[in-house]
Amino acid sequence: MSDILTRYDTSLDGLSSSEAEKRQKEYGLNEIAEKPPAPLYILFLSQFVDILIGLLIVAAVAAYAIGDVIDAGVIILAVMLNVIMGFIQEYRSQKAIESLKSFITKHAIVKREGQVKEIDAKTLTVGDIVVLEEGSKVPADLVLIESKSLSCDESQLTGESKAVAKEIDDKLYMDSNILSGNGLGVVENIGMATEIGKIADIVQEDDEETPLAKRVGKLGKTLSAIAIVVCIAIFIMEFLKGIPLVETFMTAVSLAVAAIPEGLPAVLTLTLALGMSEMAKSNAIVRKLLSVETLGSCTIICSDKTGTLTENKMTVVESFYTNEDKTHLIGKLCNNAVLDNDKIIGDQTDGAILKHCKEYDASLERIDEIPLDSNRKMMTTIHILDGENNIVLSKGAPEIILDKCKYIDRNGSIEIIDAETKEMILEKIGEMSGHALRTIGFAYKINDTESPEEDLTFTGLLGLIDPPKKDVKKSVNECINAGIGIIMITGDHEKTACAIAKDIGILTDGKVMTGKELDRLSDEEYLKIAPEIQVYARVKPTQKMKIVETLKKLDNIVAMTGDGVNDAPALKKASIGVAMGDGTDVAKEASDMILQNNDFTTIVKAIEGGRKIYDNIKRFVKYQVSTNVGAILTIVGTSLLNLPLPFNPAQLLWLNIVMDGPPAQMLGIEGAERDIMERPPEKGDILTKNTMLQILILGIVMAIGTICVFTYELSTGVSTTKAMTVAFTLFVVYQLLNAFNGRANSEKSSKFLYLGIIISFLLQLLILYIPQLQTIFRTTSIDMIDWIIILIVSSTILITQKIMDKVMK
Ligand code: ADP
Ligand code: MG
Repeated sequence: MSDILTRYDTSLDGLSSSEAEKRQKEYGLNEIAEKPPAPLYILFLSQFVDILIGLLIVAAVAAYAIGDVIDAGVIILAVMLNVIMGFIQEYRSQKAIESLKSFITKHAIVKREGQVKEIDAKTLTVGDIVVLEEGSKVPADLVLIESKSLSCDESQLTGESKAVAKEIDDKLYMDSNILSGNGLGVVENIGMATEIGKIADIVQEDDEETPLAKRVGKLGKTLSAIAIVVCIAIFIMEFLKGIPLVETFMTAVSLAVAAIPEGLPAVLTLTLALGMSEMAKSNAIVRKLLSVETLGSCTIICSDKTGTLTENKMTVVESFYTNEDKTHLIGKLCNNAVLDNDKIIGDQTDGAILKHCKEYDASLERIDEIPLDSNRKMMTTIHILDGENNIVLSKGAPEIILDKCKYIDRNGSIEIIDAETKEMILEKIGEMSGHALRTIGFAYKINDTESPEEDLTFTGLLGLIDPPKKDVKKSVNECINAGIGIIMITGDHEKTACAIAKDIGILTDGKVMTGKELDRLSDEEYLKIAPEIQVYARVKPTQKMKIVETLKKLDNIVAMTGDGVNDAPALKKASIGVAMGDGTDVAKEASDMILQNNDFTTIVKAIEGGRKIYDNIKRFVKYQVSTNVGAILTIVGTSLLNLPLPFNPAQLLWLNIVMDGPPAQMLGIEGAERDIMERPPEKGDILTKNTMLQILILGIVMAIGTICVFTYELSTGVSTTKAMTVAFTLFVVYQLLNAFNGRANSEKSSKFLYLGIIISFLLQLLILYIPQLQTIFRTTSIDMIDWIIILIVSSTILITQKIMDKVMK
């Protein structure tokens, strides 16, 4: 060991601060360089790679070729606006997603100047002594100088997920996960010099599309296919009617632009990304876009108790000793926490016990440890007592400790535990646990280190209070109103679990089940009673898997929390795996969402956030697609009726830009509906049959209204330009009122939406009344009577929506 320490010019106490600083200057930061995002001009140019944009450019060239400079100009302007808007959206999404990454920082526990400290893993340097624990991510390439049954998963390098045992002098590689045990390592290489750093390019993964994005993409493709067929048909029909080729071509292309929801995927990603950054600000960091949509439809939350529902700030408040000194000896030495003044570094339970036993003066060299694990629910250390004798110290779940005790230490006199004494101690345990205390039992034995956790001698119990978090009760209530079930899953004692679950409102009329009972049930039996269970106690993390699987079989969207290595499979299996901010790296990696503040309330807020985003996506998808449908039906209708087309190419492009633009974007940022947490979770699809039908009806209403008014105007003998202007303006007003239809009934005012609508309307007035713009858009001013017709006819869209709201629930 000293070899290694000399090689890296360090000591067991770690580097001094000044030395660490010096080395940081020399070796740089412990970072893997990220693949830089595409440069901005590439992002900009990539917007041109689009069939519609290509067609528009062809149309512009054709218009220019026949001397139609104005239309050519308008089309080029439309191209530019589309490209710029697409660029801005994509850029904002990128920024939002990047900023989320900055929330996820890696930490490392090191020894410096003889003190254990938690530091930002970036500042780790060569020669640092790293403290390794179960569940942590190896922060750099290390050489082990101490190993207590340490094993790790090196799949990041080997691709093979299995536990590899690691002895002293073995190497540990950056980003591998410690699956069990603990140890100390010396940093050998950092950053890009590590093994993973050398292959960093290969392992960086691209974000995949979310299912919702795929579905919306598919809808877009279907609509595009329809639109293209329609455009070709219109192109042929109009051409056969004798309209010049180039003009027909421009009309067909503009119609395609107006009818294809090409902007939808980009707005969707942007809405999700912005929603995610908003959630991150309230401590819920969503690691995958997917979970934002799933969150909204969550039907059950399975929550840990300690640290999620409770503070995880423990204090010893009750005790029961048969030998007080021995209990304190065990509490102090069979303990891995460190007190930095009053701050606990390490396990909170350990820390509270350490504080309680602080006064007790004892130090015996530790020679071995069987670490705490949530399956055994106890930990054991072995120490040198004197020259000849060793002593085994154990603490853990009291009934489990008691089970392993053969003797009892009554202030120094050792007796065999009889049934009566056992009964008395169990009663004591029940009593403490019934007070909602986490109860820990203590035991020891001298020599016989072969089978350390057997034939122990009992010394006492400590009861630790861990109060529920402040807002938990309220959040539980909120979930109940929102139709979301809550289940507590804890490794703690049944009575402790029940007392707390009752207090915060989780345990109402349901049942409690222990891990043992769960194991005894067959899958079918369990499936039957699973819906009634509200609390699981003394559960092993491995059993969480069975719980998630069963709940999912019962058609639930399950959010499941976890923090340890053993929780990882269940987190992966859950619809939404939720890891704790101070949980293990392994759990975080398996999760979809990380709670920075470890707080149950944050899950509930995130669900609310998810529901809001879901609603808003529904709003603009419905809005945009009904515009598309309306435009297609209007053009097809007039063409079939042998009327002139009501919109010219410039007007169609205008529709696409003005309507695609402000109002739709604003629908994406509407506030939460007032009853958002008072309605049951909505399962599944944004594009339900109901929504599709509504879209179709809205499109039909717009088309009929527009065609009727257009026909009427033509029949009064006004110029075609005038009739077109009125029809076009009517169609625009339809869209604006339809955007208004989409507003949220929210506490937050819809001022941005209203502003968007007003701006669009003012822009419309500009192209109606400014002579230069009239020339470009071939419009003419319209008078009072036209406006009255427009307002009356367009209001049908409001009425239609009202009726649909009533009839089509
Ligand atoms: P929870 O689900 O509440 O987080 P844990 O899995 O952390 O429960 O703990 C389960 C049980 O393990 C506890 O009830 C306690 O009896 C025992 N235990 C927890 N922490 C320690 C510790 N540091 N030392 C010994 N036993 C512990
Ligand atoms: Mg725990």
